[in-house]
Amino acid sequence: MTAGATKPGQYVLTEEPPENPIKFERGISAKLRAEVLDRNGFTCQMCGLTPGEIDPATGRKVRLHLGHIKDKSLGGKIELSNLRALCSSCNQGAKNITGEKPTSIWLLSQVRRAGQEEQRAVLNWLFKKFGADG
Ligand SMILES: [Zn+2]
Repeated sequence: MTAGATKPGQYVLTEEPPENPIKFERGISAKLRAEVLDRNGFTCQMCGLTPGEIDPATGRKVRLHLGHIKDKSLGGKIELSNLRALCSSCNQGAKNITGEKPTSIWLLSQVRRAGQEEQRAVLNWLFKKFGADG
């Protein structure tokens, strides 16, 4: 895989703070990263994990990457509409999950069959996301 030579004036991150759970692809500006992550709610757009959570598939802490929706080799551009947040596993295609988002009907059906502990965890997460008054 060759990503092409660095263009003159292009900024390349050579070092990252080790405690940063979010890993970025080279060549994406800090502003664009922030926009993509904010739009995606700092959540993997395939499996729904967030940075710092333990990935049940790997047993390791989740790190977020920015992935292309349309691959670079297919002409996908580095722009907001073609980028999304993905965890390491999904970014490497390690998880067999479709790109389609779950419907609210399906989600509710899953929450209904979950145990009370799990339902409480969902409730807490929603409160955290939307606020108790939302
Ligand atoms: Zn994922």
